[in-house]
Amino acid sequence: MKIICVGRNYTDHISELKNERPEEPVLFQKPDTSILLKKQPFFIPDFSNDIHYEVEVLVKIRKIGKHIQEKFAHKYYDEVGLGIDFTARDLQNKLKEKGLPWEKSKAFDGAAVISDKWLSKKDLPAMDDLKFRLEKNDEIVQSSTTAHMLWKIDELIAYISSYFTLKIGDIIFTGTPAGVGKVGTNDQLAGYLEEQQMFSIKVK
Ligand code: ZN
Repeated sequence: MKIICVGRNYTDHISELKNERPEEPVLFQKPDTSILLKKQPFFIPDFSNDIHYEVEVLVKIRKIGKHIQEKFAHKYYDEVGLGIDFTARDLQNKLKEKGLPWEKSKAFDGAAVISDKWLSKKDLPAMDDLKFRLEKNDEIVQSSTTAHMLWKIDELIAYISSYFTLKIGDIIFTGTPAGVGKVGTNDQLAGYLEEQQMFSIKVK
């Protein structure tokens, strides 16, 4: 399986990082080795002093497809989840300055938190208004809805599949809203989608 991530998909997050609003979605991938194993804490890697959380709605692909038209994109997924795109922001800034790929700052071991739980589309309201939030030590640090996405889920599936064939089990990280921030040792991070707790992880 592969993990495809979308960057700069919420206007408020684009401005907090002083990035330009993109003309097309920004895409990158994480390898399967970046998935944080179930029930394991997240260990801050020694190559960074500024690891940020980014809470994101996840989409699990259920059927193989390429060049998927937006109007058929809804047939390619049944379930949504929640995750964290951990980012070594200090390293990412250095790479960005040099115009180099972001991989080292985004694809390291443990950098992809994927909820154990997945919610079925049929039990949820419209995909374009899913409410989600991240709590750090019981305080809300990020809170948004998919209504604020620049590119909606179906548009993303169409766009992504024009570059990469989507396969069963692939997961799309759909981008983060404002409020990203640094994690420290002993932080507890809990993610909620439509009021259901999707994950809870400890930082070490
Ligand atoms: Zn992200």
